Amino acid sequence: MIAANNPALKSWIKVAADSDFPIQNIPFGIIKTGRTQPRVATIIGDTIIDLAALAELGYFDDLQIDNSVFYLPYLNEFMALGKATTRAVRDRISHIFQHDNAELRDNEEHKSQVLVNPIYAQNLMPVEVRDYTDFYSSREHATNVGTMFRDPNNALLPNWLHLPVGYHGRASSIVVSGTPVRRPKGQKKPGDDGKPGFGPSRLLDFELEMGFVVGQSTQLGQSVSTAEAEDYIFGLVLFNDWSARDIQAWEYVPLGPFLGKSFASSISPWVVTLDALDHFRISGPEQNDPPILPYLEYEGKKRFDINLEALIQPEGGKPHTVCKSNFKYMYWNMTQQLAHHTINGCNLNVGDMCASGTISGETPDSYGSMLELSWRGSKPLAMPDGSERKFINDGDTVIMRGFGEKDGLRIGFGEVTGKVLPAT
Ligand code: MN
Repeated sequence: MIAANNPALKSWIKVAADSDFPIQNIPFGIIKTGRTQPRVATIIGDTIIDLAALAELGYFDDLQIDNSVFYLPYLNEFMALGKATTRAVRDRISHIFQHDNAELRDNEEHKSQVLVNPIYAQNLMPVEVRDYTDFYSSREHATNVGTMFRDPNNALLPNWLHLPVGYHGRASSIVVSGTPVRRPKGQKKPGDDGKPGFGPSRLLDFELEMGFVVGQSTQLGQSVSTAEAEDYIFGLVLFNDWSARDIQAWEYVPLGPFLGKSFASSISPWVVTLDALDHFRISGPEQNDPPILPYLEYEGKKRFDINLEALIQPEGGKPHTVCKSNFKYMYWNMTQQLAHHTINGCNLNVGDMCASGTISGETPDSYGSMLELSWRGSKPLAMPDGSERKFINDGDTVIMRGFGEKDGLRIGFGEVTGKVLPAT
């Protein structure tokens, strides 16, 4: 077992029982305070830990790392050190904050430099995203969409059970939690007059997804096997893949999603390492009907039992849960996605982001988009304030949360939020 994952560990930092960030998590992110430039940080309980300050004070000296990686505005250089090193950093942090370790605990001067109250810190984009790929790997979601728009008896297209369907998304508009999202404008399907409509999207939607961050590059021409794939996955974030359904419906033929998707995607600020999620591994679905090609076969537990939730908070109102799903509702796992992504020799870069696709469960309250929850708008959701939602209104904030919980250990992602502003 990875030392930092030991469920018995306790920290001298206070951690609430329902915290997403116990000492066994130790995610990585980028923060900025009024006093400091952007830098690498982690969080335990509600206390942010400035890793640049820790490094400067010599706490990582035995790890032989160039401390400059902690003073950068993105995690890319840190991730590129490789898993052996980043795992050693995580283990070292875990050791420093264990309840019976006095080296920092009893040094008030050092603590004043290292510990940051979140009210004085701003989370920034953790990763410089080089390329973004969105998959479509939840069978429940793909079945819902196929049922709605095509044929309930042939909901999945012929390729779906043979390969992890995906498309190349837009990296430049991936934003960190808390960044407002402007309602997009665009063309829509023609009405009776045959002329395309134009204006603000009326069918603005969220997609409840998980994203993983690539931490190692490959050479052009190289393929990554399912067995090797986890070496290339640094960690995961919550991912809201905002979607304008009316723009999407008109533009997507024949080349797939474009402006209906590229206006924004929001991510949670703390990258939870794949290591920290080890407790929540579960086995995958049978994939023998039809059988899959050898390059997509894999061994071991490659799915993760992570509870997911989406909430809508109207302007001035309280957050209301509209969906409870789980990351386990994936037919294709991340190792299969990476193996497929690279089977043609396409190279990976540190900082690449791959998203799961909308994660829908089996029941109507577990569908991961308003498109499905309201079944194309035919079943509006009732909100506590008496209003209804088919899609997302201006002023609404969409909140997503996620955590794994097993044997008394909870490892979470915090949340990703985004408020919808009116179109300009
Ligand atoms: Mn998506």
